[in-house]
Amino acid sequence: MEIFRDFTFDAAHAIEGLPDGHKCKHMHGHTYRLTVYLTGGLDPTIGWILDFADLKKLVWTECLDVLDHKNLNEIAGMGSPTCENITLWIWGRLKPKLPGLTQITVREGANSGCTYSG
Ligand SMILES: [Zn+2]
Repeated sequence: MEIFRDFTFDAAHAIEGLPDGHKCKHMHGHTYRLTVYLTGGLDPTIGWILDFADLKKLVWTECLDVLDHKNLNEIAGMGSPTCENITLWIWGRLKPKLPGLTQITVREGANSGCTYSG
């Protein structure tokens, strides 16, 4: 059994190293959607893996407070702020705090994204 929670955050980025004329070379913004999946045993009294409210607080504190309404090119440790590197950065911050983390998905707009499971 896995539970998940969706989050959204807004941020800007520009991808360096692209050829002239590539639209992603210039600073622009996205509304990103993050989905966090985790597993674990059910609390025998309450019957849940984790309180969704606690998950929300953790993801915001560890990741989204850092990323939301920011220039992702200036985030320490991210490198080139591609969807793939954003996903790896979020995974690296969440996994130590959430041992049951099984997968995260970062969607960059409606039709594109990256999934990582370690
Ligand atoms: Zn972009």
